[in-house]
Amino acid sequence: MTQFSQHYDVLVAGGGPAGICAAVAAARQGARTALAERYGILGGMFTSGYVNPILGAVAPGTMYDEVIALLGASCATTRNGREMGVDAERAKGLLLRFVRDAGVDIFLQTPVVEVVKEGSAVKGLVVGTQEGLRTLTAGALVDATGDGFAAARAGAAYEMGRAGDGRCQPATLEFTLYGVDEETGITCWGGSDPVTLPGGERYADFCREASARGELPENVTIVRIHRTGRPGERSVNATQANGCNTLTPEGVLEAEYILRGQIDRIIDFLRRRVPGYAGCQLKGSGSTLGVRETRRITGDYIITDRDVETGARQEDVACFYAVDKTSVARDARRLEDMGHLRREVDPDNRRQYQLYLTGAGRDMLPLLEEAYQAFSEKLSAGISGEDWQTLQALLKRLEENSCPEG
Ligand SMILES: Cc1cc2nc3c(=O)[nH]c(=O)nc-3n(C[C@H](O)[C@H](O)[C@H](O)COP(=O)(O)OP(=O)(O)OC[C@H]3O[C@@H](n4cnc5c(N)ncnc54)[C@H](O)[C@@H]3O)c2cc1C
Repeated sequence: MTQFSQHYDVLVAGGGPAGICAAVAAARQGARTALAERYGILGGMFTSGYVNPILGAVAPGTMYDEVIALLGASCATTRNGREMGVDAERAKGLLLRFVRDAGVDIFLQTPVVEVVKEGSAVKGLVVGTQEGLRTLTAGALVDATGDGFAAARAGAAYEMGRAGDGRCQPATLEFTLYGVDEETGITCWGGSDPVTLPGGERYADFCREASARGELPENVTIVRIHRTGRPGERSVNATQANGCNTLTPEGVLEAEYILRGQIDRIIDFLRRRVPGYAGCQLKGSGSTLGVRETRRITGDYIITDRDVETGARQEDVACFYAVDKTSVARDARRLEDMGHLRREVDPDNRRQYQLYLTGAGRDMLPLLEEAYQAFSEKLSAGISGEDWQTLQALLKRLEENSCPEG
């Protein structure tokens, strides 16, 4: 039985990065907008889950740029591409203000527990509050729960897990360390990162062997470590719980139990075996495990890799790297001749090309990473990690000062 209801133009379930941007965008268009978040903070995995840094590239001029500037994210170019280090503690307050200033009604500690339907039409959400259940109705609903919770309750079709056995990607609980020696403490973005230890051994192989020896949990074969933007700090993405159904309370409990139990072992491994980590300490861990994959809603349109790759229009590449369009066009033609790129005319603008990596182009990526690493090491010889970060920050400031209008 719900207590009372409120009506909005747009209602967003979930206050992670997707929900924040959806709610702010709607409110800025003049829609009366509300956002319901089950936890007491906004930011989703980036605040509650300690996920850091923000990875990936987004075409310039979107709300991504605005959020990155708001959070004062520190940009580092690594073997992994651009990494934006975020201070999760500051982000909690900044994101709340960002959404509130846009005029969104925010419901914190307010889980969405059901959808309201009239026939097949979705009319609103039922949320849980300390006063009991409330109904929020709206003209349009956005499911940004990450689990497709509202869409599934509304009866939307979805897929889950991989074909064959339905298994989903593992859950991970991220944590942050401090007290890492910047001079010697390596970083690693994943199993294909070519980074080596001082003796020349590939760090990824070293982790795999440590797991086989029982120094790391059996299913933890790589300890990913990223800079956070603060000297001496590292974000660790390593714990792993496989095969737990995190859509059930029993599955969540089981996964949290496994993941929290792995943290001490991983820190112990880093302290004893990895240069630069001998004095590291646990700064904090996410208040929730991170679920990489559950329901995948079968919507009217399903975004594929190809859609994502379509973002690489020649003009965007020129803008992103601040180089002239003619150079990009010339280099793209050369790479196409070499079989590394494919160019296709943009159906929305026939004077534009879209660029796609070919299989041969993808095969070049590890080589480029190695060359990039070798060049970075040569370039930064004799410069401490802290000085290197300061230099990057200063160069970025120069870049921003040179064109303050963006
Ligand atoms: C272990 C792990 C590591 C990752 N590492 C990186 C990384 O290093 N860099 C990177 O860029 N990306 C990383 N990602 C991906 C990144 O976290 C996601 O792309 C991003 O968080 C997606 O944003 P979102 O808003 O869709 O979902 P989420 O961030 O998951 O936010 C969903 C929000 O909805 C809320 N919610 C859920 N159900 C309800 C409900 N019933 N009622 C109300 N609220 C609800 C949640 O509390 C949460 O706040 C990682 C993800 C995981 C799981």
